[in-house]
Amino acid sequence: MGVPKRRTSKARKNRRRAMIKVSGPTIVFCPRCHEPKMAHRVCLECGYYRDQKVIEK
Ligand SMILES: [Zn+2]
Repeated sequence: MGVPKRRTSKARKNRRRAMIKVSGPTIVFCPRCHEPKMAHRVCLECGYYRDQKVIEK
């Protein structure tokens, strides 16, 4: 198994982690009701995900 040869420095670790929250959540438009929704999440407007009703309204 691969083992790190050197300990990751605090600066390098912090630089890497600084990029994680820079980009916000991906917004896509629901193919059913065309409302903006989060990618890979159930649409909160119509309650559908992948042509299946997930949330009963
Ligand atoms: Zn929808």
